Amino acid sequence: MRLLEHVTKIILYFQYLFLFFLIENCCVFVPTLFFIYSILFILTLFYNYSIMNIFNCYFCDDYVGLSEFVCDDCYALLPWNYYCCEACALPQMMGSCVGGLCSRCLLSKSNVILKSAFLYEDPVVQIVRAMKYNSRLEFADFIAKSILNYVLTSPGFICPDFFVPVPIHKKRLRQRGFNQALEVAKVLGDILNVPVDYSSCLKVKHTKPQVNCSKLARVSNVAGSFIVTGNLKGARVVIVDDVVTTGSTVNLLAKVLYERGAKSVVSWTFARRVI
Ligand SMILES: [Zn+2]
Ligand SMILES: [Zn+2]
Repeated sequence: MRLLEHVTKIILYFQYLFLFFLIENCCVFVPTLFFIYSILFILTLFYNYSIMNIFNCYFCDDYVGLSEFVCDDCYALLPWNYYCCEACALPQMMGSCVGGLCSRCLLSKSNVILKSAFLYEDPVVQIVRAMKYNSRLEFADFIAKSILNYVLTSPGFICPDFFVPVPIHKKRLRQRGFNQALEVAKVLGDILNVPVDYSSCLKVKHTKPQVNCSKLARVSNVAGSFIVTGNLKGARVVIVDDVVTTGSTVNLLAKVLYERGAKSVVSWTFARRVI
């Protein structure tokens, strides 16, 4: 039973009574009655929001309360990236990794360890697209907490000295109005009390969206894209992004961060695309 809805319905009823009373007695106690009416009006808005599903699970419509986004059942059913290589985060058959690494990473390990909470499949795709293309910035909280739930239980968790969100070019920032990686990094930074460095790392080359590029073209597409001006001597850095595909963007950014003195670079992303 959704108690909140019943309570707000009763308030709605009293609001009409007060409105009627206000009209009838408009000369007497008007300020007081107007104040009460305003409070009831705000509570009615609250009720309207409740029936607009902000208290319900994003996927199944079960009641979850204001602070939650999905119910426990739907959360458990999301495509968690549990059986994956500990270096490239690509999904693997159970038991196929050696020392946590896939056959490709055993031969040549990349300079950045990727941690990705989910596989890039529905309904994770919907969440990523809703935030990025429909400006649903409230999803940053859910994305950041999911990343954190994942990395805290995966091997080799180290709390970083800095979060570096993957920067976007100022032209794209103007078009979109926000950097989704920065929004997620801010939440992670708040929870772990770790600073977010979003000013010393810049994207200086306006590139095509990586999603439209072939595997090889992605590397040349991002080449020379980033500059880092800060001094990161001895720092453990975590790069934050929403989706990782070939890893060419984070690899290039990690290379620049190492050149500026970073001691270790790990990438935390919400979803791993497999191509
Ligand atoms: Zn649900
Ligand atoms: Zn691997």
